[in-house]
Amino acid sequence: MSNLERTLSIIKPDAVSRSLDNEIKEIFKSRGFLIIKEKKIQIEKPEAEKFYKVHETKPFYDDLCTYLSSGPIVVMVLEKENAVLDNRELMGATNPKDAAAGTIRKKYGISIDKNSVHGSDSIENAKIEIDFFFKD
Ligand code: UDP
Ligand code: MG
Repeated sequence: MSNLERTLSIIKPDAVSRSLDNEIKEIFKSRGFLIIKEKKIQIEKPEAEKFYKVHETKPFYDDLCTYLSSGPIVVMVLEKENAVLDNRELMGATNPKDAAAGTIRKKYGISIDKNSVHGSDSIENAKIEIDFFFKD
């Protein structure tokens, strides 16, 4: 039974600014993720606000959008069996302090906001987020 999925991954400004993007990409590849599409971009704050709209009522929303638009990011479409959940597992908990050993956020995350990577949380949101960055 094949369960090939695609998910959206973002290497966030804190990681790109420390030149960790290649190292993080190698981790994805070594765990069996295929990088189908990728681009290094910097987005404007209104675009970040659109991307994180689901969080618009949260107290951290404004800072989050300022942060995501503060510097270059690497946006990728990752493909693999069970890509959505496997990526969430590889990323680790939102707060790097709570992230399990061996996860990307445990290894590279600085704080709950500067946690180095984003990953879609469901197949449905993966489709929406992939379209957001890669719709031609
Ligand atoms: N975030 C934050 N403060 C919080 C919770 C979240 O700054 O108290 C940021 C953090 O960068 C996180 C993003 O908002 O990655 C989106 O939050 P979500 O709960 O969706 O976490 P994720 O899905 O990224 O683990
Ligand atoms: Mg989320």
